[in-house]
Amino acid sequence: MSTAARQAAPPAPDDGRPGGAPARAIVVGAGVGGLCAAARLAAAGSEVVVLERLHQVGGRWSSRDIDGFRLPTGAFLIAMDDPLAETFAELNVDFPVRAIDERTVFSVNGRLVGTGERGGLRALVGTAAELDGSDADTVLTRLRAALVSPPPDGDVSLPQWLVSSGAGPVVVAAIHALVQAFMGLNAVEVTATAFLDYLRATAGRGRHGIPPAGSRSLAENLAGFVTSHGGDVRLGSGAKGLLVEDGRVVGAELAGGIRLRADVVVSDIGLAATAKLLEHADDEAAAKVRSVSAAVRGAPGITCFVASQQPFFDHPVVVVAGTRRVCLVTTPTLVAPELAPPGWHLTESISTFASSADCSDPKSELAEHLADLDDLLGDWRSRGRLLQSATYRGEWPVYRSWPGTDPTNRFLVPGLALVGDAVKPPGWPGTGASAESARLAVNDIREGRHEPALSPTNGLATEPGATRR
Ligand SMILES: Cc1cc2nc3c(=O)[nH]c(=O)nc-3n(C[C@H](O)[C@H](O)[C@H](O)COP(=O)(O)OP(=O)(O)OC[C@H]3O[C@@H](n4cnc5c(N)ncnc54)[C@H](O)[C@@H]3O)c2cc1C
Repeated sequence: MSTAARQAAPPAPDDGRPGGAPARAIVVGAGVGGLCAAARLAAAGSEVVVLERLHQVGGRWSSRDIDGFRLPTGAFLIAMDDPLAETFAELNVDFPVRAIDERTVFSVNGRLVGTGERGGLRALVGTAAELDGSDADTVLTRLRAALVSPPPDGDVSLPQWLVSSGAGPVVVAAIHALVQAFMGLNAVEVTATAFLDYLRATAGRGRHGIPPAGSRSLAENLAGFVTSHGGDVRLGSGAKGLLVEDGRVVGAELAGGIRLRADVVVSDIGLAATAKLLEHADDEAAAKVRSVSAAVRGAPGITCFVASQQPFFDHPVVVVAGTRRVCLVTTPTLVAPELAPPGWHLTESISTFASSADCSDPKSELAEHLADLDDLLGDWRSRGRLLQSATYRGEWPVYRSWPGTDPTNRFLVPGLALVGDAVKPPGWPGTGASAESARLAVNDIREGRHEPALSPTNGLATEPGATRR
């Protein structure tokens, strides 16, 4: 039977809930995208059940305690002015994030740039251009023009585009570090267009903060909002499969054969894992999600956490250029001493892989990362203690999809919505991207735009950068 013929009718019009909210929704995965979607649906009057396979909420936006230190499971630097912060403000949920007083600082060939003032990119390009003899004004003028009207050559790699715009090697290396730190990839792996989308989405923003009780406290507040609106957040309760009837997703199956039905199922677990949940229910639906998933690559990364009694940097967030791998060194305890035992500091470093397409040798990537720490933190091996190193890839990457290449169709199968960083709207980085994916998906569900309308490009149609509907 053809897909069109098999698609059952969408749920009956809502019975009094404002704005077309579905009567019952299941959200699979309590990451930032899933929780934002669940909270928005609960606020709109839907009865929401959140299924989370782990025993805590937040996914890669949570925390765990090691030797008295509170370490993140992923995100630790929280934007104060992006779609995630807006979600908390709109729903009036407590947002316990302590603002970092200064803007992000850059270290270019050992020189600290951008301390405190606005216009970090201008300061970064200016200093880097002084070091390589290129003309900062030429590069910045081209960047500004490209932000207003997309350049015809935007599909080339970012370094190639920067060089054609007058950038020298130190400017390219400095922007590479910025891309690693906030887009999770190497500059050569993003197009000029993807970088310009990022600059456009975050223009005039960029204030960050640290949650003093860890990211988990934020996730718990959103989960609390869901339960206080009649929802149910089930921990240690993974979905084992999705229920499909006449080509439409109608619920989820849990351990022990328990079946839950809903008008809409929202998946926050990525495309590959969602396709797996569909496998035993409907071959055609599984194949559709799998075919889009095949074009999606995850962005891997490595972090190290060092405990020390004295901090290594006086600035909480330093983007470092010109290293082997490491792009960002943060000292969250300069802002939130609560994250460490009294008298201790926590330093986190993060790196991309040499090639984000190949994460098969994390051991040698970690060796490069540690060699960078020797350069950046000097005597850290005697002054500090490596609390933990961690590799993020596979089902737990930095991003499930390379920024700029995300599938933007969140409705591949009737009754199913995709959220999270596998389907980031163009431009937005980090947790803000997942929050924005949830906002867009819930808007579409409430306005009845959520039935699949595959574009001729099979779900990979582009969505205008950072637009709001
Ligand atoms: C090391 C690292 C550092 C980062 N730093 C930052 C940062 O500083 N700032 C920032 O904004 N972003 C940062 N990010 C990115 C950010 O963490 C992610 O983009 C974001 O958290 C992804 O959220 P998500 O909605 O895609 O869901 P995920 O976090 O992927 O959550 C999915 C959830 O689904 C659950 N699940 C999986 N399968 C099932 C199932 N079958 N049934 C039920 N539940 C299931 C998982 O357990 C998980 O809890 C970082 C990421 C990493 C890894």
